[in-house]
Amino acid sequence: MSRRRTIRSLRQVAGALQAVVMVGLPFLKINGESALRFDIPTLRLHVFGCTLWMQEFFLVLIATIFLTLLALFITLVFGRIWCGWLCPQTVLTDLTPFVDRAGGKGPLLTAAAYAATFLISAVVAASLIWYFVSPYEFLPALSRGTLGTTTWGFWTVMTLGIFLNYAFLRHKWCATACPYAKLQSVLFDKSTLIIELDPKRAAECIDCRRCEKVCPTGISIRRGMDAACINCAECIDACNAVMGRFNRKGLLRYAFGSGGEGKILRQNFFVVGGFVLLFFGLSLYFTLARTGVDVTVLPHTMGPRLTREGKIINAYVLAVKNMQDRPVELKVTVEKFDDSLVQSITVPLRLEAEKADKVPLFVRVAKRAGMKGSRKITITLDDVSGKIHIAKEANFVIPDEL
Ligand code: SF4
Ligand code: SF4
Repeated sequence: MSRRRTIRSLRQVAGALQAVVMVGLPFLKINGESALRFDIPTLRLHVFGCTLWMQEFFLVLIATIFLTLLALFITLVFGRIWCGWLCPQTVLTDLTPFVDRAGGKGPLLTAAAYAATFLISAVVAASLIWYFVSPYEFLPALSRGTLGTTTWGFWTVMTLGIFLNYAFLRHKWCATACPYAKLQSVLFDKSTLIIELDPKRAAECIDCRRCEKVCPTGISIRRGMDAACINCAECIDACNAVMGRFNRKGLLRYAFGSGGEGKILRQNFFVVGGFVLLFFGLSLYFTLARTGVDVTVLPHTMGPRLTREGKIINAYVLAVKNMQDRPVELKVTVEKFDDSLVQSITVPLRLEAEKADKVPLFVRVAKRAGMKGSRKITITLDDVSGKIHIAKEANFVIPDEL
């Protein structure tokens, strides 16, 4: 097998795997839910068996920062490897070569190529919608004709947008409009992986221009690094095939830095890599530290008061939300201060799965001489199994007068 076939085959395998993952994820069920889906009616994100509520979206934010930094790190080290190997724009453009070939082969073939591209666009658009509407609801509703106007509207607009992209823009998008492509050139340093003409063998070039003819973005990489290069390696394949006829290795290659003189382990590698590890650690920590119960301490309509018996009462409302798929029983306690705590809720607070409740909490303390102003108290909620421990601070106000 020639090297040309090997590189292209590897890209095709990577693209096929990516397509299978993208289309398949919403179908994969973990704990009864799609592996990855944002449910709009309930505003919950299902991520590999874990359900995140709106209150926990800081976790999504941290994970997004981690993924963004990871993308920056990969770009810094491997250049536009994402664009050439995994980006859906490249994968689908490569999967629809008949669009390029159809031109000039008669109106019938051209129409057939556009029809096939439209069909593929409809499937791609549907697979994107499945990240919001479960395919297990979407497909039966489609077959019954009860999909709903909103879903139909999104599907139609997305299909048209994707069709116009794959029918007419194709790789022009990568070279001209893609914002990620523009950002990437800023991230390159002198050791980033690029595609280049081996400078030591430049004189061997026979000027056949095969590398230019196969380039999907229409550039000549022989003249040096170009921001429009998507690292697809088509030119390497082409040159390997040309030089193979002379029993020589191709002149174009992947290289870390110009002339292959870059260093993988460099300062930028450690700085950006360090941030990637930091945010990965934070994502992991917050995911593992997740309690599945959200508690907010709200003020009660009854203000702080002093009773005739000399007891200070402060009232609060505990807004508790059980975000787990099982009931939870919580014991509420308030830490003593000055050994004066008299009463708080003592009965277990039971919440059914995915339910919220508001319960009053009265904290009574015997007033002593010199007590004034306010102080912090800590309200804790522990479940009977000992897995959940939530501590919340609140202000305990000491009124001056009866
Ligand atoms: S394919 Fe190779 S030999 Fe032909 S022009 Fe390009 S670099 Fe030169
Ligand atoms: S120069 Fe080579 S790697 Fe870059 S886009 Fe063109 S064919 Fe692909």
